[in-house]
Amino acid sequence: MQNLPSTNDLAKKYGLFAKKSLGQNFLFDHKITDKIAESSGEISGKNILEIGPGPGGLTRSILQKNPKKLIVIEQDSRVIPLLEEIRANFPNLEIIHGDALKLDVGAIFGGEKFKIIANLPYNIGTVLLFKWLETPENIESMTLLLQKEVVQRIVAAPNNKNYGRLSVMVNSFCDSKSLFDIAPGSFVPAPKVTSSLVKITPKISDVDFEILSKIAATAFNQRRKMLRSSLKSLNLDVENWLKKSNIKSDLRAEQLSLDDFANLTKNFK
Ligand code: SAM
Repeated sequence: MQNLPSTNDLAKKYGLFAKKSLGQNFLFDHKITDKIAESSGEISGKNILEIGPGPGGLTRSILQKNPKKLIVIEQDSRVIPLLEEIRANFPNLEIIHGDALKLDVGAIFGGEKFKIIANLPYNIGTVLLFKWLETPENIESMTLLLQKEVVQRIVAAPNNKNYGRLSVMVNSFCDSKSLFDIAPGSFVPAPKVTSSLVKITPKISDVDFEILSKIAATAFNQRRKMLRSSLKSLNLDVENWLKKSNIKSDLRAEQLSLDDFANLTKNFK
């Protein structure tokens, strides 16, 4: 680490100005990146995956905690030589130049367990999260920086205006906790909105992902309507299905608990 310039100086050295199209809002303050890394719990001896390392501030906070291996995937080719310079000091860093949306997380780390830590590009944050929810087997936890509004939707409970498909999908397969906010001024350039760090920990679940996803999308698509009409487009005997699932047909999607959604999924035929 002694041989490395500061993250800010490294970014300057490689002419790394932020590109909006890649959702780039960089963190140069190590107090903040250290706090993010610490929030993921134990790192020493663990496999870690970081999405979008950019100028490497968070990358360096993770590396200082001595992971077994840190794999980073970055789409921006300008960043790769900068990351190589960090790797010269940390041989346990592996760099992938590629698109995180195409990464097979099931095969990474040779099937061993790993944690995800990332300041995500906001334009693809929820798409990536949905992708990981589908194959959570090897994921120990995901510590993710996202827009505050998205984190509020992730952790929302029933009967809350933020409760929707995202809350149902995440919390049917994981535990989620909002940890703290980071103000726009902490990023370069400053985004328009506040960010929040969320920790998402996969748990054992026997709910069918695809069926639940279809039901939750349909129910929340017309969230003001009663279930007997909002679920109609699923083309089954809705009244009978709701009765079997022990759910009143005059309720609305946002009044259903995770157990209600699990029952609807099991009885979906
Ligand atoms: N981790 C850095 C930090 O905290 O300063 C940068 C975070 S910035 C919000 C998001 C990063 O993700 C950028 O470096 C961007 O180039 C990268 N990125 C955007 N889309 C990506 C994709 N599809 N796959 C991999 N990386 C991507």
